[in-house]
Amino acid sequence: MSQNKAKTPVEPAIWRCAVSSPLRRTFDYLPSEVCHGAAKPGARVIVPFGNRSVTAVILSITAESSVEPEKLKAATALLDEQPLYTDTQRALLSWAADYYQHPLGEVLPLGLSPRERRGQTERALTETGVRLTARGQGLPDSAPHRAPKQAALISRLRSGPLPLAELKADGFSPAVIRALKDHALVEDCELATKAAWKTRFPPLRANAEQQSAIDQIVAGAETFSVHLLYGVTGSGKTEVYLQSVADCLSRSRQALVLLPEIALTPQTLARFESRFEAPVIALHSGMGDAERDRAWAAARRGHAAVILGTRSSVFVPLLNPGLIIVDEEHDAAYAQQDGFRYSARDVAIKRAQLEHCPVVLGSATPSLESWHNAELGRFQRHSLTQRAGAGTLPALRQIDISGLELSAGLSPELLNNIETALEQRHQVLVFLNRRGFANALLCHDCGWSSDCADCDARMTLHKTPPGLHCHHCGRRSAVPRQCPRCQSRRLIGTGIGTQQTETFLAERFNDFPVIRIDSDTMTSRQSMPDLIEQLGNGDPVLMIGTQMLSKGHHFPHVTLVAVIDADGLLFSPDFRGEERLLQLLTQVGGRAGRDGTPGEVLIQTRHPDHPLMKHLDKPYHTALPALLSQRSQAGLPPHGALAVIRCDSQDRQEGLGFLSRIRNGVTAPRGAQIIGPLSAAMARRKNRYRSQLVVSAASRSMLAKVVADLIALAEAARHSHRLSWSVDIDPYESL
Ligand code: ADP
Ligand code: ZN
Ligand code: ZN
Repeated sequence: MSQNKAKTPVEPAIWRCAVSSPLRRTFDYLPSEVCHGAAKPGARVIVPFGNRSVTAVILSITAESSVEPEKLKAATALLDEQPLYTDTQRALLSWAADYYQHPLGEVLPLGLSPRERRGQTERALTETGVRLTARGQGLPDSAPHRAPKQAALISRLRSGPLPLAELKADGFSPAVIRALKDHALVEDCELATKAAWKTRFPPLRANAEQQSAIDQIVAGAETFSVHLLYGVTGSGKTEVYLQSVADCLSRSRQALVLLPEIALTPQTLARFESRFEAPVIALHSGMGDAERDRAWAAARRGHAAVILGTRSSVFVPLLNPGLIIVDEEHDAAYAQQDGFRYSARDVAIKRAQLEHCPVVLGSATPSLESWHNAELGRFQRHSLTQRAGAGTLPALRQIDISGLELSAGLSPELLNNIETALEQRHQVLVFLNRRGFANALLCHDCGWSSDCADCDARMTLHKTPPGLHCHHCGRRSAVPRQCPRCQSRRLIGTGIGTQQTETFLAERFNDFPVIRIDSDTMTSRQSMPDLIEQLGNGDPVLMIGTQMLSKGHHFPHVTLVAVIDADGLLFSPDFRGEERLLQLLTQVGGRAGRDGTPGEVLIQTRHPDHPLMKHLDKPYHTALPALLSQRSQAGLPPHGALAVIRCDSQDRQEGLGFLSRIRNGVTAPRGAQIIGPLSAAMARRKNRYRSQLVVSAASRSMLAKVVADLIALAEAARHSHRLSWSVDIDPYESL
């Protein structure tokens, strides 16, 4: 054997790489000739792939490959001498690909900035510095004697590297610096050191509940722990975040704060910026690539102290993280619902484990998953039961509208309450989760309806500007004057949308401003801040809006919140329907009465006896045991694990046939079940047919195994290019 070894030269190292492709496997390459030797895992390389050249990431360097040596191709270039991924980032991304059973090559780019994804290098941070070389350090004091300016610079640098900009400002000319560089006495460097991070204002005096939460979060600062901060709306959760972050920064560690997109407003940013004398950066969808590149580098190099970001920021590289916060942890925005499907909340928990730091999940309406984990003692729960400052919690009351005559969806009792509130010069918020004027246009004579040509859905009637819009595929068309089928002119809108309610309310309460708030009116990032500013003087105003109103924003002068139609979600076929309704109603209610005046929330329903409706006047969490036991009986999360294999095809039969074939090839073990193929709730969307298999199992490991078996068959199955399929582990929606 040793003889054998002696004959062959040193075994060539093999680069095991992840390539961006739909295949769930790694690919081996020989090192490129021009860049052998120095490669490290986490570096990007250019490799031949099929007949293309693509960017790949080295996962490991091994001595053996299952591919025969003469068949291995060589990489063509090594892009990074130093790995671009931090070790934990690589571990996190690999875990995510594994857990969500998604190709690693498609997951890895989430850890890179836009320019790095394009194969370019990291963006340099603007702060370049100058430092002494070893030779410069060895120079005797006051040398070089004949060049006092150079000697002065060397003596300045003896205490450590300094920013180039600072040296220039202090009168050291570029010529002086260049002369020292020419003699290899100084060199450029990137400034890794930074000023100490400080908390600027003395924080608010935390109340006892806040203090207890802060103490417990801070106590385990250098170890992994999960904290569920259950605080009613306005109870001062953000203050708990701020004080926990202050502690984290005082240990020179970075804090990552995740927010749903809609909550990452300039106000939130300002609240963090004004508290800390340290760089606070925000990552959101409104940023340009260059800005994102810079933010990325600042996070990776440890220059950014606090990183506020939306869902995908959970993968941002961090030099030295010490705390992760997930605000509004129940929010659907944390679930990525196409392509690589993941839950940013769950990834954040995994990340905290890998980083050995605490993670705080905050919400006034925690998800059943998190609540269950707290009940089991896996998460530490901290409750904030009182509103901080002046606010009191509003009372929730239902109005039974069965059999009542409604005007634009509003009952006489509700209208009376609105009138009283406005006359008392209060602000009122009316909530209706449907945009447009009417759900659909119908022909009174022949029953024609405004169906979308590409979806199993009706097009919504809009009045301002007029048109029929499909809210599912974006298709638009003109409003017909007469029925396309029977030419009748008796076309009527059915189902009330925000535009209709707005029109009605504007007429009825014409002494007061009526403002509509939905994605048709709030079209820029600045719209909501502008509105909030406008409301700041407390003058009476009537607002009507969609669920956009239920999140994050504070409307301190609102004393009455009205929910026009709570029944939509009550009988939703989705397993989260009731949980979401409860969260929505509690959150909408939480917008009211923050300014000292007690608020009221009125909820219209035709099902006043539904258990959920009966619970509305009690604290949110008291409804959870019943919901959890329903889930337990049905074997649904958080009891038991769930996955969905989705298929999308141009031909309906091909999709169903494809899913049947893979389903029939897998035998589910005891405790697991494969259901389907079933058509999705909206079977046709954008002219594609959607169907799915639902996999449920008593344990995660069993689920993973069944899904892996299904994937193996799906990857091997023949299908046309007009069919695509995807995997959704822990789906937010099962339909
Ligand atoms: P949440 O994040 O739970 O909705 P916030 O942190 O935004 O609550 O707090 C709601 C309001 O109460 C804010 O105006 C905040 O400044 C104030 N507040 C929070 N904590 C305190 C405190 N300990 N003392 C006084 N006011 C507080
Ligand atoms: Zn007709
Ligand atoms: Zn459509």
